[in-house]
Amino acid sequence: MTSLDDLPVRADLRGKSPYGAPQKSVPVALNVNENTHQIPEAVAHDIVQSLAVAVLGANRYPDREFAVLRDSLAGYLNRGLPEEQALTASNLWAANGSNEVLQQVLQAFGGPGRSLLSFDPTYSMYPLLADGTGTRWIGESRDADFELSPETAAVAVKRHDPDLVFLCSPNNPTGTPLSLDTVEAVYDATRGIVVVDEAYAEFAPDGTPSALTLLPGRERLLISRTMSKAFAFAGVRLGYLAAAPAVTDALRLVRLPYHLSALTQAAAVAALRHSEEMLAMVDDIRGQRDRIVTRLAELGYRPYRTESNFVLFGGVRDPHAVFEALLEQGILVRDLAIEGCLRVSAGTEAETTAFLDALAELDSTV
Ligand SMILES: *Cc1c(COP(=O)(O)O)cnc(C)c1O
Repeated sequence: MTSLDDLPVRADLRGKSPYGAPQKSVPVALNVNENTHQIPEAVAHDIVQSLAVAVLGANRYPDREFAVLRDSLAGYLNRGLPEEQALTASNLWAANGSNEVLQQVLQAFGGPGRSLLSFDPTYSMYPLLADGTGTRWIGESRDADFELSPETAAVAVKRHDPDLVFLCSPNNPTGTPLSLDTVEAVYDATRGIVVVDEAYAEFAPDGTPSALTLLPGRERLLISRTMSKAFAFAGVRLGYLAAAPAVTDALRLVRLPYHLSALTQAAAVAALRHSEEMLAMVDDIRGQRDRIVTRLAELGYRPYRTESNFVLFGGVRDPHAVFEALLEQGILVRDLAIEGCLRVSAGTEAETTAFLDALAELDSTV
């Protein structure tokens, strides 16, 4: 049988591995930071009605400019912004998940001969997206406890002079918040594009300022968001970005025509009409996250600072053995090959209890 190695695949892709977080069917899946709460049924019905209308028009290509959706996304983001900083549809862009948004950013601003810098450990898709677009990956290191100070970040950026910098805020897989001072320092230190990936922004404490507030006057700053996490919409695939209107002009050069299906657009617009209900579980999830942090410390583990819907914890003698022992009990967490660490997403109260109880039991055996 033909194997991958027999094919004339691009030389720079040889030997690489695809994204591969295990997708196992288990009772308690706490491994990919999904929102573990279902969409409220009343909202689901409204979404279905919008889908029914969209299906009837599916003989035509969808709105290539997804104008209604961009308007809805601007309205959603503006809830957290002062009036004088209000965004309009011209500042917004969207694609099938923020992963696709980031890929389009690399297609437009990265590519062969160009480089992307970020700070390890960070989102495992960044180097994969760099590989796929032929962009050189530069993984710089963080300060102690995975923090990232303005000085550390700016020094690394000046040293490498990359074409793009991705800052994950809060950072996945560590949960670490990122101060706006660091974002400003990076922006000032580079001539390149700076992306702040705020996939988990809604889980930060109330009143935490978003990098969106830094957009005025910074035309190389891009803020990416997603409906996958706080919005409980991972299965629909809708990520978006806010930036200067010229940035969306650049992304139009690389996007596929009609990349957002009429069904995706209809579902997302309908869900955004119900933002309050869709986000109702965020408080509950933050509560479960804080509970995990407290209990892990009691059990003698070392939870890292987190403003996300997950917790990275150290002090695990044999992460692989703990991972396997939890899986045997139907509980899936994430082993990211960070020494002595595992990551767990905050679940429903029952799921979180199942995880914490199982871990407490294991304590003496693993
Ligand atoms: C989950 C996640 C995303 C979201 O990806 P989608 O493609 O929108 O589902 C983006 N960035 C980070 C850091 C994530 O953890």
